Amino acid sequence: MTTASDRKTLSTSGYHFIDEDHFDRLLLGKPDRGAARDVIAKSLAKVPLEPEETAVLLRADDPDLIEEIFAAARQLKRDVYGNRIVLFAPLYVGSYCRNDCLYCAFRSSNRDVVRHTLSPEELTAQVETLQRHGHKRLILVFGEHPAYNPEFIADCVRRVYATRVGHGEIRRVNINAAPLDHPGFRIVKEAGIGTYQVFQETYHRATYGAMHAPESSKGDYLWRLDSPARAIESECDDVGIGALFGLYDWRFEILSLVAHSRHLQKHYGVGPHTISFPRLRPALGVRIDDTYTVSDDDFKRVVAILRLAVPYTGMILTARETAEVRREVMAFGVSQIDAGSRIELAGYTAAEKVQQIEKEQFELGDLRSLDEVMRELILDGYVPSFCTACYRAGRTGEHFMEFAIPGFIQSLCTPNALTTLQEYLCDYGSDETRAAGAQLIEKELNHLPEDPRKQELQQRLQRIRQSNQRDLYF
Ligand code: SF4
Ligand code: SF4
Repeated sequence: MTTASDRKTLSTSGYHFIDEDHFDRLLLGKPDRGAARDVIAKSLAKVPLEPEETAVLLRADDPDLIEEIFAAARQLKRDVYGNRIVLFAPLYVGSYCRNDCLYCAFRSSNRDVVRHTLSPEELTAQVETLQRHGHKRLILVFGEHPAYNPEFIADCVRRVYATRVGHGEIRRVNINAAPLDHPGFRIVKEAGIGTYQVFQETYHRATYGAMHAPESSKGDYLWRLDSPARAIESECDDVGIGALFGLYDWRFEILSLVAHSRHLQKHYGVGPHTISFPRLRPALGVRIDDTYTVSDDDFKRVVAILRLAVPYTGMILTARETAEVRREVMAFGVSQIDAGSRIELAGYTAAEKVQQIEKEQFELGDLRSLDEVMRELILDGYVPSFCTACYRAGRTGEHFMEFAIPGFIQSLCTPNALTTLQEYLCDYGSDETRAAGAQLIEKELNHLPEDPRKQELQQRLQRIRQSNQRDLYF
């Protein structure tokens, strides 16, 4: 059978680099406490792990050693990211899809799901509502359909950036869309996308084949596997990868995500900007057997081991998970979460208390408002951030890594988190959130060294409080 990757141009690094036999052998090895501690030490020194080293952590089965892994992940998160959490919202643009992925409510054979594509006016209305809630970063999500071509995606991105309500603006638009070819990536890049996100879903080829009809466009494993590399070769140097946990053995998917990250680093000098690790959720008309269901306990290991394996890669935890799970695993290494999310088509303007499952790709686990999530984060000692500074200052991709690796990112992230939090409190926060946020900002300021940067930060916070000046990033 001819596949898309036979007909189209792969990247210069486009080959099957997931070595399944090798990964299977790695996972069959015996647990080794001494080796696991050596790997943990390497990770705490902020050195990315190879799949072989990651497997040592995956093989750990003794509860005490697993606790050591959790403790190390918490520490590494604190060392690299401090206590900030970046917030964003997903915005579904269209539910038409030509694929028939067995785990998804939008699959083409599902006649019960509502199909819709937001009109330009509807898109604007969603963005205005998100701005009124206080959002500054969005990810636009598209089904895979000929109508959602690069020009259409680029038009949507431009429309989002052009929408302004009061002090509201979206400062970074990421996309989650089907794999594109090189010219397609260049078109969406020109519109100013931030991260291009694409999940392999499962890296296990037989499972991939069972989930995705081979003749469908998504059935081409290599074309999808190669898409982050094509994006980078087309100047989209911030890419997000991920796997859908629950389709195959979670330990295999972790090794594959690490291998994918190392592959990009080796060929392009830059790994993925983010890794996502969504778990399967209930969805309209979807029945996947529970052979590979990831328990909450194993999910904690997923997050902690990924954190240790890729110290400088952002990790995204979404509202698929319940508020309780999100709260618990946040400390293990998550750097970004969504909040106030609605994933029904046009769901932000028509938000109901209950989800309308016939209009969404899967069911969410956390329906709290942005303000509620902000308040909980603040009370738990996190600094919620809407920062988008690096992308606008040109610190992306390889350049971003130059800033991140020497470890002085915190001198940018914390001040920028505080100014964007102050903006939120002034413009959108409820009284309770404002009071909690004001205390947090004072506490954070007290922790900063007395230097010109702190003085400048204090002046900027004052300007935000007392004037209409916004977007005062470092
Ligand atoms: Fe389409 Fe994506 Fe759903 Fe597959 S997962 S059916 S490509 S929307
Ligand atoms: Fe992200 Fe850069 Fe802002 Fe830090 S300063 S939160 S790395 S955009």
